[in-house]
Amino acid sequence: MALYLGLDFGGTKLAAGFADESGRLLSFARCPTDPSAGPIGALAAMRALAENMGQAAPQAVGISFGGPVDSSRQRCLLSHHGPGWEDFPLVERVAEIWHRPVVMDNDANAAALGEFCFGAGRDQRNLLYVTVSTGIGGGVILDGEIYRGSHGLSGEIGHTIVAADGPLCACGKRGCLEAFASGPAISRTYAREARLASDKVTAENVFANAASGDQIARQVLDRAIQALGIALANASNLLDPDIIVIGGGVSGAGDALFRPLSQIMHSLSAPAPADTVAIVPAELGDAVGVLGAVALVSSTGR
Ligand SMILES: [Zn+2]
Repeated sequence: MALYLGLDFGGTKLAAGFADESGRLLSFARCPTDPSAGPIGALAAMRALAENMGQAAPQAVGISFGGPVDSSRQRCLLSHHGPGWEDFPLVERVAEIWHRPVVMDNDANAAALGEFCFGAGRDQRNLLYVTVSTGIGGGVILDGEIYRGSHGLSGEIGHTIVAADGPLCACGKRGCLEAFASGPAISRTYAREARLASDKVTAENVFANAASGDQIARQVLDRAIQALGIALANASNLLDPDIIVIGGGVSGAGDALFRPLSQIMHSLSAPAPADTVAIVPAELGDAVGVLGAVALVSSTGR
């Protein structure tokens, strides 16, 4: 059995875990991220998490980083959550701790590969992974490999435009998918239309209210799911994937999300072959970052 260490440097939490080459998780732990501690603090916390597991030395270490990564130079470009990560050589620093080969990618690419190797995308060839959470991100697997694009920016489905005159997005453009369907977009729109304080509402509340007959919640969700369906139909027409895997907090809504989403997406995409594309929930849950990181190293045969 090969033993791999996966490290998930997220904006709000750090997670570490050991897994074998088939993605069987042998140990897993996490703790909150302290953004003010920067990369040095995060490394120390991550080292403590991993060493407390008492596992043998790993064969290689994978890193899922919650921010943009220069994949060819294997460096973090920056973090949206705190200072100190600009051009930080995280791979080198991790290699100095464990003295093993280290591979890093951004969290969306790692999650896509994790679901492809060990989760909902097993036995598929082409996969689109979309995480619907605080933001909306994505990762693309083509012919079994991460497709990064020319500038490492592929998969940014959250900022594809689904309505040219839509609401303003955090990126400064109008009508991005993220401005309709991220968790905060859903809760904010509902709070505004139901005249509630926005800090009192979560996307989970909106799904619960819609299920119990609240018409405003129903309409807000219909618009969010419609936007997501448009984006997935466009992506499906472009990529012709075998499967679309939806992760992130909002994907926990289950049938209330997946049934209408699937209908809308299939009604809007080109008739064939998109009819056969399955939209399914992610399977790896909280361990997706760690197992995605393990997939980065185990799938390269290190
Ligand atoms: Zn945007």
